[in-house]
Amino acid sequence: MRLPLIAGNWKMYKTVEEARSLAQAVADDLRFDDREVLICPPFTALQAVRAVVEGTPLALGAQNMHWAEQGAYTGEISPLMLRDLGCSYVILGHSERRQYFGEDDALINRKVRSALEHGLRPILCVGETKAQRDAGNAKTVVLGQVRLCLEQVTAEQMHSLVIAYEPVWAIGTGDTATPADAQEMHEAIRNTLADLYGSQVADQVRIQYGGSVKPDNIDDLMAQSDIDGALVGGASLKAGDFRRIVAFERRS
Ligand code: PEP
Repeated sequence: MRLPLIAGNWKMYKTVEEARSLAQAVADDLRFDDREVLICPPFTALQAVRAVVEGTPLALGAQNMHWAEQGAYTGEISPLMLRDLGCSYVILGHSERRQYFGEDDALINRKVRSALEHGLRPILCVGETKAQRDAGNAKTVVLGQVRLCLEQVTAEQMHSLVIAYEPVWAIGTGDTATPADAQEMHEAIRNTLADLYGSQVADQVRIQYGGSVKPDNIDDLMAQSDIDGALVGGASLKAGDFRRIVAFERRS
């Protein structure tokens, strides 16, 4: 049984005070034992949010990291620093990192391996653009990203890793993949994992869907057999919407 994971990616939003009060509103009386909930504030708010989530069921994660432990990498944040701040997860390879900061699969692979070596659970993001989908290449692109980003990752390490399928055309656009289309891609990703690691490992890796997840589409997405959670951007910035998403209906 895969424990569903609902994660909020706050992107580059919220000052320290705003982050503290959003985290408080999300955490307030939150009680679940059949799902995991994670929030990923900007780096600058991690320490403040850590104090809020301590003793609550909320886990803390970051949105990116450098692969090195330390060094002359001006402006970067290392896995050791994230651990030091109480992070257990880190989002890696988000399409905004790929699009605006030139991150490619080789760099993302390096970050994934470093996160795992340092006891951080990577949420590895993959997804195709609209042009790639329209050209009929969605699966080739996504499954290629999965293979390249997982190079040299061992079967044992896969127990800590989460994959987020995020079609680029669905991120922040209000345009969601249909539950059936998302399920088809999730199944293809799981088959690729089975190819790489065997079906036992593939069956336990959680695959989240991301891309305009909202209170009114979460239940239908989560009803799909290979969708194990959601990576939520915009809707995670509103406590009420995020809490409704977290409270998705379990149908199976
Ligand atoms: C994201 O940033 O990962 C995301 C899915 O954003 P949104 O929910 O706003 O589409």
